[in-house]
Amino acid sequence: MDKQSIIADEARYVMQTYRRAEMVLERGEGVYLYDTDGRRYLDFMAGIAVVALGHSDPEVATAVAEQAATLTHVSNLFHTIPQVGLAQRLVEHSFADRVFFTNSGSEANEGALKFARKWARARGGEGQHEIVAFGGSFHGRTMGALSTTYKAIYREPFAPLVPGVCFAPFNDLDAARALISDATCAVIVEPVQGEGGIHAATPEFLRGLRALCDEHGALLIFDEVQCGLGRTGRLWAHEAYDVTPDVMTLAKPLANGLPIGAILVTEDVAAAIGPGEHGSTFAGGPVVCRAAQVVFDRVSRPDFLAAVAANGDYLRRRLRALDSPHIVDVRGAGLLVGVELDVPVAPILAAARARGLLVINAGDKVLRIAPPLIVTPEHIDDAVAILSECVGQA
Ligand code: PMP
Repeated sequence: MDKQSIIADEARYVMQTYRRAEMVLERGEGVYLYDTDGRRYLDFMAGIAVVALGHSDPEVATAVAEQAATLTHVSNLFHTIPQVGLAQRLVEHSFADRVFFTNSGSEANEGALKFARKWARARGGEGQHEIVAFGGSFHGRTMGALSTTYKAIYREPFAPLVPGVCFAPFNDLDAARALISDATCAVIVEPVQGEGGIHAATPEFLRGLRALCDEHGALLIFDEVQCGLGRTGRLWAHEAYDVTPDVMTLAKPLANGLPIGAILVTEDVAAAIGPGEHGSTFAGGPVVCRAAQVVFDRVSRPDFLAAVAANGDYLRRRLRALDSPHIVDVRGAGLLVGVELDVPVAPILAAARARGLLVINAGDKVLRIAPPLIVTPEHIDDAVAILSECVGQA
C-alpha cells in the first residue's frame, strides 16, 4: 500500500482525534525510524517518552517472541512467572511494598485515585474524599484521571467529572496549604511535569506537600508516568528530592512500547484494598511483563542512569549555547528537556521533521525533547544541528 492511500484510509476509517504528521512509519532501529518512502528520522521523542531502549531492541524483541510462544494471556485469576518477577524488581528498587499492574498511565492514575478513596474511607469516614491536583498537570484521559488533569479543553467537554477535585498552582505551597485539609484523601503531582511544559517541582514544594499530607492524613501520589524509570537520570524522578510518596504511578517506558502501567504502593495503602475490589483483564500479562523485566534490568543499572544524566546535561548545554533570540528557556532533568520559545512551536516541529528529526511539543511554545535513553552525544550533536537551523529560521 502506498503512503497516500494509507493516509486516505485513515481519514476514512479512524476517528479523527489525532493530528497525525503526513508520514507512515514502517520500521525502527535504535534511535532511528524509517517511513514508507525510505526516509530516516532521528527520533528525539521516543513515542512520547516511551521507547527507552530504542526501537526494535533485540533483547526486548527476543523476550517478547519467546514469551508469546510460551504463554500470552491467562487472566489475573492465576499466578504467572513474569508478573511476579517484575513486581519484585519494582518493589525492591523503590519505596513501595506492593504493585498493582495496569495497561496505561491513565489506568494507573485511575486506580491510584480509587485506592486513595478507599484507604481514606477506612480511616476518615465518608468526609475524606477530596483530591488536590495542580495547574499544568496531566494525569490522563479516563474520567478519574481526567478530573485531575488541568487543561480545560481536555476536561470541559466531558463534564460532569469526578467530584471533589481542586487545583492549586504548581510549585505554590501556600496555595496548596489552603486547599489541603482533613477532607483531602490524596494529593497527586508529577515531580517533573511533562505535558504541562517540562516544569520540575521545587524541593520545597514536594517536601511541603509531604508534610501537609502527613499533617492531614492524606496520601501523596507521585505520577511518574512520564518522568519515572530513568528518564531524569535517576531511577525515580523523586529521588532527587529526598521525598517519598505513598503511591507512585508508572507507565510509558516500562515495557519499551508495549502497553503497561503500574501503581506502586506502601503496605498501608495495599491493606485497604481487598480481593475483588479492583482489577483489569489484560494487566500484568506475561508478554508485557517479560518485556518490562528487560527494560527494568537495563535502565536500573547505575552506569545506564549515569549516562542518561550526562547526556541530558550535554543536551541542555548544547541547546543553551544556541544563539537564537527565540529561545526563552532551556530546562528539564536528564533526557526530559523543554525549550521554551517566544514563537509557536508547531512550525518548528514540522521543519525538523522535514530535516529528518522527530521532536514534540509540550504546550504551544515549548519544544519537548525526550529521546530514547540510549542516545549518544553524537546523536545529540545531530539533533541540535537540525534544531539550530529550524529555530534560527522561525
Ligand atoms: N500521566 C502523565 C504524567 C503523562 O504524561 C501521561 C501521558 N502523557 C499520562 C499520565 C497518561 O498516560 P496514558 O496516555 O498511558 O494513559
